[in-house]
Amino acid sequence: MYKILCFCTVLILGGCSQSNNKPLVEDIKPDFREIEENTIINLYDAFGEDIEGLKKDFGFSCIVKFKGKTILFDGGTNADIFQNNIEALNIDLTQIDFAIASHSHFDHINGFDYLLKVNPEVKIYFPVDLFWGANMPFNISGTDSTATDSLDKRMQYFGGNYKDFHFNQTGRFWNANIEFIKESTEIEPGIKLITTTSSNMGYFNAYPSLDACESCESHGTKFDGLKEISLSLESNEGEILFVGCSHSTVEKIIIETKEYTKNDMAMVYGGYHLLPYDRETLIDLAYRLKYDHKVKKVAPAHCSGHLAFKILQDNFKENYVYAGLGEIVKF
Ligand SMILES: [Zn+2]
Ligand SMILES: [Zn+2]
Repeated sequence: MYKILCFCTVLILGGCSQSNNKPLVEDIKPDFREIEENTIINLYDAFGEDIEGLKKDFGFSCIVKFKGKTILFDGGTNADIFQNNIEALNIDLTQIDFAIASHSHFDHINGFDYLLKVNPEVKIYFPVDLFWGANMPFNISGTDSTATDSLDKRMQYFGGNYKDFHFNQTGRFWNANIEFIKESTEIEPGIKLITTTSSNMGYFNAYPSLDACESCESHGTKFDGLKEISLSLESNEGEILFVGCSHSTVEKIIIETKEYTKNDMAMVYGGYHLLPYDRETLIDLAYRLKYDHKVKKVAPAHCSGHLAFKILQDNFKENYVYAGLGEIVKF
């Protein structure tokens, strides 16, 4: 919009005559940056060096090029800030091969409003999440089926015919080219999506889970928490793992990834979600990441938190990769 405005201003100031060396639209369009192979750029975050034009905000998005594919991972909190940073970094979102949404939280998906504006056909991989419009079963029978017997028909959902109820909704992204990912999958050679589930709904609260209810199996559905997908790239050094917010815990995602890929863990990049934890817990975790899970490099961003930045840096030393907003990380 800014560039169009500039163009209009030039037109107005210069009148409509052709003699004024007016810039053509092609001249105004920036030369988009070619993202190099095995390169990650942090597009959206709340920390980083002061780089001209870039706006910091709490949320997460990054872009990576691997085996010729340009992949957008998450889209940040605010579509305007996302657009600002994309333009400041000269990135052309019409050139991406596909996008991945790690999970349904606002600080990872809102920027997709801008993505879909410039590239409405782009393929987006989503976790199978009810809150994103996935067509899936949902238990509306509750935990005590005897309650139904004493209810008037008009007080029962669908007059009592709700046994295999599925949500079939028109969601926010109903027009987009979405593929819901149910289980860990290799979507391109060496490019895998790892599925995990947070048992805490992603907010670290004690939402009453039907997992605890023994009789719930008979209702055909079980509540099982917030769905997440992580991206794992099979590099020469081992897997380069991208995590969005790690609500399933970064440790669980690493374990799942190692199990699925049968490969070493070269680097873990993104939001580790360690803000709620104390020093002792984080020191133990850093030890386990390094020695039990054999993570070679850590590149924490977004919701990892100051304390985790510090403790991971102390533990991983030269294998701590700084990954702030605008930073280019090579692997
Ligand atoms: Zn989240
Ligand atoms: Zn987040």
